[in-house]
Amino acid sequence: MTRPDVVVIGAGLSGLTAAVLLHQANLRVTVLEAADRTGGRIRSVVDPVNGALLGDLGPTWVCPPYQPVVADWLHRLRVETFAQFNDGNAVIEGFGGGLRHQTLPAQHGMLRIKGGPQALVSALAQRLPDTAIRTCAQVVRLAAQGSGGLALTLSSGETIHADRVVLAAPLRVAAAHVDMPDMPPAVLAAMAGRPTWMAAQAKAVVLYPTPFWRDAGLSGRIASQTGPLIEAHDHTPSGGSVAAIFGFVGSSPAPRRADPDGLRKAILAQLIRCFGDKAAHPLALVVEDWSMSPLICTGADLAEAPQHPVTGPDILRQPLLAGRLFLAASETSDLSPGLIEGALDAGQRAANDILSRL
Ligand SMILES: Cc1cc2nc3c(=O)[nH]c(=O)nc-3n(C[C@H](O)[C@H](O)[C@H](O)COP(=O)(O)OP(=O)(O)OC[C@H]3O[C@@H](n4cnc5c(N)ncnc54)[C@H](O)[C@@H]3O)c2cc1C
Repeated sequence: MTRPDVVVIGAGLSGLTAAVLLHQANLRVTVLEAADRTGGRIRSVVDPVNGALLGDLGPTWVCPPYQPVVADWLHRLRVETFAQFNDGNAVIEGFGGGLRHQTLPAQHGMLRIKGGPQALVSALAQRLPDTAIRTCAQVVRLAAQGSGGLALTLSSGETIHADRVVLAAPLRVAAAHVDMPDMPPAVLAAMAGRPTWMAAQAKAVVLYPTPFWRDAGLSGRIASQTGPLIEAHDHTPSGGSVAAIFGFVGSSPAPRRADPDGLRKAILAQLIRCFGDKAAHPLALVVEDWSMSPLICTGADLAEAPQHPVTGPDILRQPLLAGRLFLAASETSDLSPGLIEGALDAGQRAANDILSRL
């Protein structure tokens, strides 16, 4: 392999954003991704026949009026949005009394992406040369070289040398699983202290032939203290051939991991309770438990109650290892840490930092 100018660790949204900008500036870029697919926390249920998006198992919403970086990248990548369906009554359960129907306000400007956030991942990957992304390539060591560059060791034992590295893996995952002997202890501590947004979350996507709840004047939204879904929404794809509901699982990781079949049955029972008997026969019910992915979730994420990410210390946004290493996970952003906006922002900041030093 020709020595790359820059190695990007992690083919999530932040890593791919950095890689595309560096490639467009004529640098040789290699993206090393530990998983067997790109996207990281962005993952979709797709139609096995035509590959069309059926549902998002990771993020769903963007808010372009309040997220300038998202608005810019949607435009650059020619990716379109559409409104989150919210017409009709939500079903409220467990807040005293029986089930109640009432409208709940939509969040202004919150939109869905045609093709899901996966459309951003695909559009970015398409802008890279075919050989730029290596999947099943887990970095286990990152060390300075006497000659001035950095040496990366993969779990296979292979060593790759690069002038510069963008580390776009979740900060806690990198701190826990990548040996970084030259990293200043204060940076390692800051990385280990940044929760990975949604890392311990589980999300369910339930597909139906039609959005039958709409016919009954329901929006598809559920707000529940009974669970297992504490919050659910209409998730019907744009122009799709199926309808869908998605929901966030409210229980903590240990019980849901102990009985995944029980969880699926309880989700179905809740949907029947809220939407009636037509909910009993889904085309598919998919649960993605992110807490089970060691490339996203660490023991520290499991041990803590989820908290919305706040901006981390400046040290996470500064060039490291004599200007050769740049952090780029969404959680390093000072704009919208943890969100899609943060991933795009962090990826472009890392790329711009490299380019401004050439
Ligand atoms: C259930 C859920 C719902 C969400 N909802 C929303 C939403 O509605 N709106 C929103 O804006 N955001 C939402 N988010 C957050 C959003 O998904 C993230 O901000 C964004 O995807 C993070 O991108 P990233 O590239 O920074 O990190 P990641 O997507 O985590 O990518 C990191 C990549 O690094 C790889 N990696 C890890 N370790 C190594 C290693 N040692 N070597 C090589 N590769 C490695 C991983 O496999 C992964 O592919 C949600 C997230 C989840 C999980």
